[in-house]
Amino acid sequence: MGLTKTYKDGSTPVVAIIGAGFSGLCAAIRLQTQLNLHTYTMFELEPELGGTWFANSYPGCACDVASINYQFSFEPNYEWSHRFAPQPEIWAYLRRVAKKYNLHEKIQFRTEIVHVEWNQDRQKWVLDYINLATNEKGVLEADIVFSGMGPLRIPQIPKQFENFEGPMWHTAQWNHSIDLTNKRVAVVGSGASNKLIHRLPRAIASFMAWTYRFIQIRDKALRAKLTPDYEMGCRRIVISSNYFPALAKKNVNVHTETITAVKGNSLMLKDGSVQEVDALVLATGFKVQEMIPPKFVIGKDGVDLIGAWGKNPSTFYGVTSSHTPNMFFLLGPNTGLGHNSVLFMIETQVEYAIKAMSYMMENNLSTIQVTEKACNDFVTDLDEKMKDKVWSSTCQSWYQNDEGRVTALWWGSCSQYSRRMKNFHPQCFINTPRKV
Ligand SMILES: Cc1cc2nc3c(=O)[nH]c(=O)nc-3n(C[C@H](O)[C@H](O)[C@H](O)COP(=O)(O)OP(=O)(O)OC[C@H]3O[C@@H](n4cnc5c(N)ncnc54)[C@H](O)[C@@H]3O)c2cc1C
Repeated sequence: MGLTKTYKDGSTPVVAIIGAGFSGLCAAIRLQTQLNLHTYTMFELEPELGGTWFANSYPGCACDVASINYQFSFEPNYEWSHRFAPQPEIWAYLRRVAKKYNLHEKIQFRTEIVHVEWNQDRQKWVLDYINLATNEKGVLEADIVFSGMGPLRIPQIPKQFENFEGPMWHTAQWNHSIDLTNKRVAVVGSGASNKLIHRLPRAIASFMAWTYRFIQIRDKALRAKLTPDYEMGCRRIVISSNYFPALAKKNVNVHTETITAVKGNSLMLKDGSVQEVDALVLATGFKVQEMIPPKFVIGKDGVDLIGAWGKNPSTFYGVTSSHTPNMFFLLGPNTGLGHNSVLFMIETQVEYAIKAMSYMMENNLSTIQVTEKACNDFVTDLDEKMKDKVWSSTCQSWYQNDEGRVTALWWGSCSQYSRRMKNFHPQCFINTPRKV
């Protein structure tokens, strides 16, 4: 590929990678294999790598795009037990891959990055971290930062459930110590997805959904409850052979009324009914819009990245921002997908960052910073393209911010994204020459 792998003096940038999920691991592997770069450190606040696939261990947890697409393209696994592999297998796969590339020794586990600030004089990022096991604090200076902090990570727990006086947990924090046999369990929320339907014309997909509902649910009232009142695809689509049958079981009741209050171990519903339960499982999603906390990243000129973005992140293809030189976001704003494996996006973004770093070394640059204009152009084009997409329709989803603007998803296909990100765009970046 003709990448430049060192500066002329033989040195390589110091790189910090935040997070050891698919994103962080991909960045580490590609730095090693494509740039032969080993001057990097990964920080992971959990005691284990894997991100999503370490955190989520609820019964039946699995990927919702076929495993053949939900794996690194450069590390194919021919032994998935299911078309949609279960969580333990995906987590084991990630541990296996990490072992192959000796990544464990590069990861500082149980170490949380708490603050990241750009130092203009030194042309470096200063990362403050804390070891959660020992409370020891530390600082790392890095030339380049990859942020792989994960959009679907921080559980969204509506306040009213905090009053529940019984065992309660979010699906991403499954409590394996409690036996639910013969217990009355409320599961709040539902969701899963699969890309197969997405690939079909929407009319056919809707017809398939209707057919499944008709065949698998004989009770008319239940069927009515399970018939969405929003356009197909505006939320993630579920395709499953056991979803409807599970809901149709005699020991399962489906309530579609809003839960208005929680008292003791009772849930009050909007229709006036009260449900008493022994345990509460919250499948209430994640704080997608809060992937990076306020005042966490202080960029050039002391700008707080999240303060500058507000509810509307402004990036160049979700990967860089005009406030943060030498920083690459993986699965950043507007690069999630509603129809395919996000690993494609992660790999494309890492490749882009690698090309950017190669450009820096080739041209002896200490910084590259995308221009505000490039970000504005990207956002304007994105909003225009998103207008007629189903994700912009009136139904609410986690793809949108609270003003209804889609900030989580890419507007097009994976190949449309990869075509645009195939080559580094030097004309969209401002550079600073290296002093040495
Ligand atoms: C249940 C579930 C199923 C999913 N299924 C699919 C699927 O089938 N297909 C698909 O395309 N996508 C799926 N996703 C989306 C999934 O999140 C991504 O596919 C992918 O795993 C994201 O990887 P990541 O590394 O970007 O983020 P994560 O896996 O979330 O990893 C982020 C890591 O960063 C660490 N971290 C965060 N902040 C800090 C900090 N300040 N300091 C140190 N470490 C930090 C976290 O601890 C975490 O380990 C699913 C998500 C969930 C929750």
